[in-house]
Amino acid sequence: MPFVHLFRRYLRDQGLPVTQQRELIAEVVFASSDHLSVEEIEEQLRARGERIGKATIYRTLEMLVKSGLVAEHDFGEGFKRYEHLFGQMPVHEHLICTECGKVTEIQSPELVRVQEEVASRHGFQAARHRLEIYGLCAACQAAGRKLEWEGLTCPIETL
Ligand SMILES: [Zn+2]
Ligand SMILES: [Zn+2]
Repeated sequence: MPFVHLFRRYLRDQGLPVTQQRELIAEVVFASSDHLSVEEIEEQLRARGERIGKATIYRTLEMLVKSGLVAEHDFGEGFKRYEHLFGQMPVHEHLICTECGKVTEIQSPELVRVQEEVASRHGFQAARHRLEIYGLCAACQAAGRKLEWEGLTCPIETL
């Protein structure tokens, strides 16, 4: 696994122990192109015959995120999801179906341009941004699902 050595180097640079468990967790994340939950990481480790506790997985994911090798996402499910940042679209956004949970990655040069324009208007130097669009995927719409609004009204309208 070519990317694990980057994580190993990060751990050494930080003076953190390089353990086999940490490497195994990194391997699972680096081998997947999905947005994995801790639950799913634990399952994949078990499928490989490895029993690693959730606390260790959480701690290792925290290190992976700090190292910049892995991104952490909150898609509003009540838990986090993780994806590695190699060999992917360098900047991508997420379309999240609130019905079936499907996450679609999209790439938008327009949004990158908007980020730069808006930032420079404020004299701000932008490094990255995060956008999550929630709604219904095409399959759920075809199955007759409807968007459920949460009953929020604009405070200005009720004044
Ligand atoms: Zn859907
Ligand atoms: Zn993604």
